[in-house]
Amino acid sequence: MACPFFMPEQRFDADWPFPRRLPLGSGWAGTCTAPGHEGVRPGEEELKSSCNLGYAKACSRLPAERHADAVRFALGEERDGILRVRFVCERAYLPAGHGELLYEKGSATWLLRHKDARVQRMAECYVQAQMARR
Ligand code: SF4
Repeated sequence: MACPFFMPEQRFDADWPFPRRLPLGSGWAGTCTAPGHEGVRPGEEELKSSCNLGYAKACSRLPAERHADAVRFALGEERDGILRVRFVCERAYLPAGHGELLYEKGSATWLLRHKDARVQRMAECYVQAQMARR
């Protein structure tokens, strides 16, 4: 699960033990969007221990008041070229929201996007990583 305040940008190929099992399908670098820290680029260790994994209690930028601790994704069914991408938010290990986004593979466009730009970008990264593997 990734930190809900993480805005991934590009692949980050570090010495991940099991990169395919990472919440966003591989490691990603990007920026923090936590209030007061917008635009900060977390260092490699932070990316590895917190941003890409969620439940970042050791991170000093993680807001005390937050809607979620982590976000995770899963591929749902694919029909007529439309892929369902499921997301779940967690807070204190309990569900804190879930839903489904729709991605049309042929045109590489999202038919149903998440209103939170960070979750949407995470979904894009996740799908990109899964597609690269096929
Ligand atoms: S883990 Fe910390 S630095 Fe990384 S996105 Fe979350 S709040 Fe920002």
